[in-house]
Amino acid sequence: MQTENTIQSVRDILKPTRGAGRIIGLVPTMGALHIGHISLIQAAKEQTDFVVVSIFVNPTQFGPLEDFDNYPRPIDKDIQICEQNGVDLVFAPSVNEMYPAKNITWVEVEKLTEPLCGRSRPGHFRGVATVCTKLFNIVQPDIAFFGQKDAQQAVVIKRMVADLNMPLKIVVCPTVREADGLAVSSRNKYLSQEERKDAPLIYQSLSSAEKLIKSGQRQPEKIIEEVKTVIGRSNLLQIEYIEIVDAETLERITRLSGRILIAVAVKFGSARLIDNILVDAS
Ligand code: AMP
Repeated sequence: MQTENTIQSVRDILKPTRGAGRIIGLVPTMGALHIGHISLIQAAKEQTDFVVVSIFVNPTQFGPLEDFDNYPRPIDKDIQICEQNGVDLVFAPSVNEMYPAKNITWVEVEKLTEPLCGRSRPGHFRGVATVCTKLFNIVQPDIAFFGQKDAQQAVVIKRMVADLNMPLKIVVCPTVREADGLAVSSRNKYLSQEERKDAPLIYQSLSSAEKLIKSGQRQPEKIIEEVKTVIGRSNLLQIEYIEIVDAETLERITRLSGRILIAVAVKFGSARLIDNILVDAS
């Protein structure tokens, strides 16, 4: 496995690889790798011939009061995890390598970035779309792999790729969870012991909602109420949003039908966690 920090060296390595007709897979990450990221690497290994993992904590997707400075950066451990999981190339650039000058060119996906996390994180998806575009231009992958954990991100990136005719496919992999249902996240490290104990309520609330839908409930307000009740069993959790939206347009729905996304964002003190489930309500 090779680890590179510069755009030029990644291009130099990938040119002959592409020339030899090998299918290139990219797994974009911010590092602090866990089993969720590993599941994307495994999917990339199954579906492509040469797997690139990018590790870059992207400053342009963090708001001024967010955790950019404190975000975990265990780079040596990350490289070891990539090596153990059969990654071919790690691209771990510095901020200066990715943004040598103040960035003035942005990729802005409209509409899909307004609801859900877009409301409390202005500029977040602009940063995500821009850095993914840069990574796609640097690596030129045939397939890029994203997690359903960040459902809105996956929808935004898919739409960006379609709208801008980017020559790659986006594959979205299922959310990997701890045994108690908590979605695995680099930010789970921020939870205190007590908070960690209550954190599975997030997925429990989504599972209860799904059960309600399966038993015939089609009124979004009733389902949201159920999610609220389950999350409300902890007084450590503060709800930022609970929304039921169309899985593709991310528009709020008044009556459940087709593929819907139930998405929640909660705060535990300073830690902000998100989770979601896709439900077929047809
Ligand atoms: P991050 O490093 O948090 O930016 O995440 C990098 C990629 O890993 C994104 O596509 C995430 O959606 C995905 N990811 C993060 N956590 C999980 C998880 N628990 N299950 C599946 N994919 C995940």
